[in-house]
Amino acid sequence: MSISIYKYDVVIVGAGLAGCAAAREAAHAGLSACVLTKLHPLRSHSGAAQGGINAALSEEDSIELHEFDTVKGSDYLGDQDCIRLMCQKAPETIRWAEKMGAVFSRKEDGSIAQRPFGGQSSPRACYAKDRTGLTLLQTIYEQAHRDGVDFKDEYYVADIIYKDGKVTGVVAFNLVDSQPMIFNARAVMFATGGYGRAFKINSNAHANTGDALSIVARKGLPLEDMEFVQFHPTGIAGSGVLISEAARGEGGKLLNSKGERFMEKYAPNKLELASRDVVSRAITQEILEGRGCGENKDHVLIDLTHLGADLINTKLPELRDLAITFLGQDMIKEPISIAATAHYSMGGIPVNINGHVRKNSQELVEGFYAAGECSCVSVHGANRLGANSVLEALFFGRHVGDNIVKDLKEGIEFIDATEEDANATLEEMERLRSLNGTQRVPDIRNDLQQSMTDNAGVFRTEESLIKQREIIKELRKRFEDIRIDDKSKVYNTDLQEAIELGHMLDFSAFIVESAIDRKESRGAHFRDDYPTRDDENYLKHTMAYMDDKHNISIDHMDVVLGYHELAERTY
Ligand SMILES: Cc1cc2nc3c(=O)[nH]c(=O)nc-3n(C[C@H](O)[C@H](O)[C@H](O)COP(=O)(O)OP(=O)(O)OC[C@H]3O[C@@H](n4cnc5c(N)ncnc54)[C@H](O)[C@@H]3O)c2cc1C
Repeated sequence: MSISIYKYDVVIVGAGLAGCAAAREAAHAGLSACVLTKLHPLRSHSGAAQGGINAALSEEDSIELHEFDTVKGSDYLGDQDCIRLMCQKAPETIRWAEKMGAVFSRKEDGSIAQRPFGGQSSPRACYAKDRTGLTLLQTIYEQAHRDGVDFKDEYYVADIIYKDGKVTGVVAFNLVDSQPMIFNARAVMFATGGYGRAFKINSNAHANTGDALSIVARKGLPLEDMEFVQFHPTGIAGSGVLISEAARGEGGKLLNSKGERFMEKYAPNKLELASRDVVSRAITQEILEGRGCGENKDHVLIDLTHLGADLINTKLPELRDLAITFLGQDMIKEPISIAATAHYSMGGIPVNINGHVRKNSQELVEGFYAAGECSCVSVHGANRLGANSVLEALFFGRHVGDNIVKDLKEGIEFIDATEEDANATLEEMERLRSLNGTQRVPDIRNDLQQSMTDNAGVFRTEESLIKQREIIKELRKRFEDIRIDDKSKVYNTDLQEAIELGHMLDFSAFIVESAIDRKESRGAHFRDDYPTRDDENYLKHTMAYMDDKHNISIDHMDVVLGYHELAERTY
């Protein structure tokens, strides 16, 4: 089969906020830019962001406070130079988005409205009702088009071309007809989003299967801080679909089965607006101790009835619709049922402050960049604050796009790809397609998600994590014995899901091994057997590497400190 090879200056994988912003900057500067995405760009998970995007805009607020809240929120694991850069550039990022055409909700006086979010000293989240992400994504996507970015929708990226320490392109196939092709470029950027789908109860889109992480890891490159998975306090009970933090920001109260406002016990000052890890643990604790609601005592309630119909209809209309659709509960009339849900992944592909991918703690990979949720520039450290992630995707997307422009001007040579560069991917696809074993992909995926929730979720122990290590080994064996029923080449979702499951097994193993290594509790990573933070031994990033037998080894990297004193984190 002959394989087409397309050539560009920049190839970006992912059309969420990070990918679109980078592509727009590259194309605007005159580079040829292509964005590959397995979904239509506007179906990227960025479009689901409801609550807002942070920037210190008001007179009561300041960039220093935003920076401090983010460092504290990260439980001091965030890199302080990157946090400073992001917070300093946040107001300009909002102005840039406005100039591109995004319309934010406003106050009576015409200034941009801002709502309070957890862990923030001041109302700081700018929003467009509760459809912030979609508003921004539509705008930046349109502007990227205007600048001539070549969008290739429904293309699945299966591998990178990585030789002699350089990335020179990607191997992809068209989902419509499985046609493989090579996208050859001087710079490749990954902006493939999160990977919350490793867990049974999660708020993430079906596409958030972390493909890019294992593509990178299979080349022997590291993944950073994978143990830190954020559980959002308010997922719709049973499904995990998100009820945005805007609900607590606007004044929602959490109640257990006794009608107690239990956050008074866990975070007497900030109550429901303590940071997410604190509130999620409180909810899970209430449920574990038997004060959950409903027949199975498996959720708690969030009460918004006191806010009144007007406020709910103007500021939280989407949330109300979600609760009616998924629960049959109208938040205007009654409290709604919620529990913690896997939501955001702090760890990912390690990059430096310019979005350049790291080969290890000292060296970089030439021609390879990443931004947004798939990357770990480490602005969130051990725990992300609400409304800092849309900011990260938009700001770092743009910033990395600008850096690619600069690096290409300084000269990265174009290295021609050959058809042989796609051979390994093609062989693997054909091998999977031909499998006629006894196991089903959805069954293995379900067992992975359930066991990750049970053993590597909100609370973890050495015992639960080691058990999960063994479960993943078993699941890998079953994965070798799968059956692909659909042998065709047209929209073969059977095959695509199998490839995605392979990725999920790989990066889940990183979550587990990194969590075993970190014998302390920090931010979203809570070890029942080591319940306190241990700065002496663990104030460092995890860098994990996988060999070709799936063994994972752990190394570490220093945290960039220096602007804020270490302190205990209380709310
Ligand atoms: C329900 C929900 C609500 C949220 N609300 C907020 C909020 O209010 N404020 C906030 O700050 N953060 C919020 N977040 C987090 C935030 O939205 C995300 O972290 C951020 O938008 C991620 O953007 P991204 O550009 O990195 O990736 P995404 O928007 O997820 O885009 C990923 C892209 O990668 C593509 N892709 C992935 N794998 C492949 C592959 N193998 N081949 C080709 N393409 C691929 C996809 O097609 C997609 O285009 C929320 C998250 C969720 C789930």
